Parts: sequence; structure tokens; C-alpha cells
Amino acid sequence: MKALQYRTIGSAPELVDIPMPSPGPGEVLLRVTAAGVCHSDSFIMGLPEDQYVYGLPLTLGHEGAGTVEALGAGVTGLDIGDAVLVYGPWGCGRCYPCSKGEENYCENAAARGIKPPGLGAPGAMAEYLLVDDARHLVPLEDLDPVVSVPLTDAGLTPYHAIKKSLPKLVPGSTAVVIGVGGLGHVAVQILRAITSCTVIAVDAAADKLAHARDVGAHHTVPSGPDAAEQIRTLTGGRGADAVFDFVGIAPTTELGSRTIAVGGDVVIVGVGPGTVAVGFFSTPWESSARAPYWGSRSELIEVIELARSGRITVDVERFSLEQGPEAYRRLHDGTLRGRAVIVP
Ligand code: NAD
Ligand code: ZN
Repeated sequence: MKALQYRTIGSAPELVDIPMPSPGPGEVLLRVTAAGVCHSDSFIMGLPEDQYVYGLPLTLGHEGAGTVEALGAGVTGLDIGDAVLVYGPWGCGRCYPCSKGEENYCENAAARGIKPPGLGAPGAMAEYLLVDDARHLVPLEDLDPVVSVPLTDAGLTPYHAIKKSLPKLVPGSTAVVIGVGGLGHVAVQILRAITSCTVIAVDAAADKLAHARDVGAHHTVPSGPDAAEQIRTLTGGRGADAVFDFVGIAPTTELGSRTIAVGGDVVIVGVGPGTVAVGFFSTPWESSARAPYWGSRSELIEVIELARSGRITVDVERFSLEQGPEAYRRLHDGTLRGRAVIVP
């Protein structure tokens, strides 16, 4: 089968022909219908050899959708042809976080070498994808897999980040979204759908700010030295009750810490090297900072319901497997509108 693999440190991913996997006991084989392109893929492909821990060759794709092609021994509750989305942050399924559906925070995954598809296990940028357990599949039913596949990360990750700050996002509150790309443009919509806060979007690119307004941001602010002051002015001097940073580099985490209100949250989702120092004299009283990772299985179901009811829509650009390297180039160049999706 065809697969898009990262094979050589520092080189672009390559389209290769590899053997088709077959499902062992408990596993499910999917025929892939869509696979999302995430900035995290670019991040890991940019790591030097001594920091790269995802194995080579690596079939990319941690956002996956497919139809059930074959069932391993003992798998029940699924039928051949069922349309599904893949819950990506695989865990052991038995520890305390996993028992709450929070496999993203599994206590045993690291020690047992359990890795997400596309981030250690073979991913969804191929004609077929092996899923380790039926519990990692969520029914898609009649939703379009191409526009739905980003829900598994570009939807789930911001949803999880926003949900923890919900008690602060009361009427009259303000949320700031920094970085309106694949994750950020969904974050704006989730904030509009499940809160009544005012949404301010920040980005370095004018077209991303226009996109932010199209998907529901009340205000947009270009990133740069004046951004903090502009956000202060837009909030009548109070600052933001939550800042969701989808970049995570020093200038953006600094913007977050300079713009939060008393009691505000700085939420670092982007994998950049920026940090936030919380201290009595450095940040407003009762403010807090956190760095969430992906989301839970039940939150994925909630995000799918938001999409099913039409309250959020992922903007996608389609690419074939052959065009995969081009999709990553466009992501790198910042010329995508929303999420790139590979359709094998
Ligand atoms: P993306 O490239 O689609 O979007 C990034 C956006 O940030 C772009 O619109 C870009 O113009 C903007 N940007 C870049 N520099 C900026 C700056 N200095 N100020 C303001 N805006 C700036 O990326 P994505 O796929 O949406 O991923 C966003 C981040 O989230 C990445 O760092 C990715 O690795 C990370 N991520 C984290 C998790 C998690 O679980 N925490 C999950 C998925 C992705
Ligand atoms: Zn991702």
C-alpha cells in the first residue's frame, strides 16, 4: 500500500510502497478515508537526531478517519464498512486517567512504549491504518470524513483546553486566541459555540486575522509589540480571562502573561519553547498557567456533536498522498486556510 513516511532526519516526507498490515487479536484495520496534517508533525520532523524519539521510518498522520476493513480476533461491536474517527492519544486503557477516558494522560503509555498513530505507531497517511483497540474508534456515521478528521486533534485539543477554563468564561469575560491556524480557527468557533465571552484573535499574518473574523472572532489584533496594549484597551483595562496560545514561543507566552486579568488563565497549547513564570509580583493575583495535551475520549465525542449540530466547521484544503510533501510545505509557509487533509 502507499504511505507517506518520514524516513531521514531533516528531509521531507516521502511517498513509499509498504506491506499492508493485517489486524492481530483485538486490532482493527481501517481503510483510510482522510488524514489531517498538523504542525506537530512539522515540529517532530524539525528535531535533531538526538531529540527525535518517534522511530524511523515513521508513517505520518495522527488525525485519522476510515471505514472498518477487517476485524482482528475477538473484536465485537463493529461492522465491516462502519465509518469511524480515530481517537489518537492511545493509552493502556486501565490506569486511573484511562478509566476516566483521559488516555492522553495515561500513566503507563511511556513505560510500555504505547505511542499514538503517526507519533510513534504507524499513522493514518496511508491507504490502510491499524488501530490497536476498538475503544479508540468513535462512530462518524453520516459526517464527511474529510472535514471531520481534524476534529480528532485540531478540534479536540482546543476543546479540552477551553473546557478547563469554562468557569472563567462567563458573560462579560474575554478570551484571547493566539495563532489562528489549524487549531486556532477551531478554537475561535468552540469559544463562540459554548461560551458567551468576547473573542480576540491574534496572529502574525493578515489573512489569518481575516479568517479569524470569518469564523467568529469579535476583534483581531496583529501580533507584535503593541498587541498587549491593544488587548488591554479592548477589555477596558481588565485584560483577558483566558489566553489560549497556539504558538508557544517566547513573544506569545509573554503576550499571554502581560494580558491576563486577575484570576486569568494562560493556556499554552503550542509546542514552542516559551514559558510563563507565575509569581506574586510578575502575574496578576490568582492567575494560573497550564500546558494541556490533546484531550479525552469523551471530549472527542462532545466535539463531534458540536460539528454534527453545525456549531463548528473545520475549513480544510484537500491533498492526495502524492501531494503530502506539498501540504507540509504549505503548512510551513503559512499559506493554508484552516487544516490540510490528505485524502488517499
Ligand atoms: P498552524 O501552523 O496551522 O497554525 C499556527 C498559527 O500561528 C498560524 O496561523 C501562524 O500564522 C500563527 N503564528 C505563528 N507565529 C505567530 C506569532 N509569533 N504570533 C501570532 N501568531 C503566530 O499550526 P497548528 O497545526 O494549528 O498547531 C498549532 C500549535 O499547536 C503547534 O505548535 C502544534 O505543534 C501545537 N499542538 C499542540 C497540541 C497539544 O496537545 N498541546 C496538539 C496539536 C498541536
Ligand atoms: Zn496534532
